[in-house]
Amino acid sequence: MLDKQHEVWFQSSLVNPAKLVRVLLFDQAIQLYDANDESFLGAYELEAIRLQEKNDQYAKLSLLPGNTDILTISDAHLLLPEILERINGSRNVGKKIRRNWKWPVVFIGIAAFLVAAYFGLISLLTSVGLHLVSIEKEKELGDMIFHSMADGLKIDTISSRSLKRFAGHLQLSTDYPLEFTVVDDTTINAFAIPGGHIVVYKGILNEMKDPEELVALLGHEASHINERHSLRSILRQLSGSVLLTMVFGDLGSIGASIAGQADHLRTLSYSRSLEEEADQKGMEIMMSNKINPQGMVGLMDRLQKADSGTALPGFLSTHPLTSERKKTAIQFIKEHPVDFETPTALLTEWKQVQQPSPNEW
Ligand SMILES: [Zn+2]
Repeated sequence: MLDKQHEVWFQSSLVNPAKLVRVLLFDQAIQLYDANDESFLGAYELEAIRLQEKNDQYAKLSLLPGNTDILTISDAHLLLPEILERINGSRNVGKKIRRNWKWPVVFIGIAAFLVAAYFGLISLLTSVGLHLVSIEKEKELGDMIFHSMADGLKIDTISSRSLKRFAGHLQLSTDYPLEFTVVDDTTINAFAIPGGHIVVYKGILNEMKDPEELVALLGHEASHINERHSLRSILRQLSGSVLLTMVFGDLGSIGASIAGQADHLRTLSYSRSLEEEADQKGMEIMMSNKINPQGMVGLMDRLQKADSGTALPGFLSTHPLTSERKKTAIQFIKEHPVDFETPTALLTEWKQVQQPSPNEW
């Protein structure tokens, strides 16, 4: 029944040399029979069959992975188009398998996208928040933050009053009514809360050599408030949880999330550029108050000394940069030569601020 045009040759490790065969095509497989004696030679799944070679004479199919069993079908064979279509179809199945194999890659891609989207959204919320939050709301937020962390702070009320009087001689902010708190703690630290709270630790006050250094510190922290650096940092820290409460409902829990993060808020850190900006603006504040900006250099010396000691949070978080900040301050002074005399009132208050806390009396 087979003429030359419809020949199918089968060759395998067991069938060698090649044998003329008859092909039966089934849904999922082909079966091969010896063309001479009709004996069954084997069945092969379409899924495993690959087209190896095709020209206008014949098509060569590999029946098994490893190319051990080869079927050579005459191009004119009636079943060839059907077989090729089926193995193309089964190649699609193969593609599906390969796509499955790619799933981890796709999954990682999606996960990376979601993470990027999450942080992008936080960034967006932060910058949108900066524009949407009014100064009044910022003060409210700041008070909330201050009160939620105040429990954990040992506040020196007498020094706090002295610091308030000291700052009362200075113009530190036009937009925010600043509030000052001295914490009875030897940690060398200070930080600013959005809306106007400045918290200074006794540890840094006691290191200071003159009132100009305190003005430098207050100028620096006030600039974090004036330039809304603190609000930006808080929004960044909170927007994650705010975002989650937006997703999962119960916006009322923002208060709880602030309270929960109060400890972290105490050690808020700013980017290097924001620290440099706060130094710059701080020195401008000193200039406008007719206070010698040399105080900023002195302050950097105190920080440098502290750098060599304990690990420093918050205000000092950029300590590897302290020497650079000092250089910038020195440059500023070169560019702004002044001959300011610090008012005696400031000197008096400064000494009050440095008084030991009541429990040490
Ligand atoms: Zn700072």
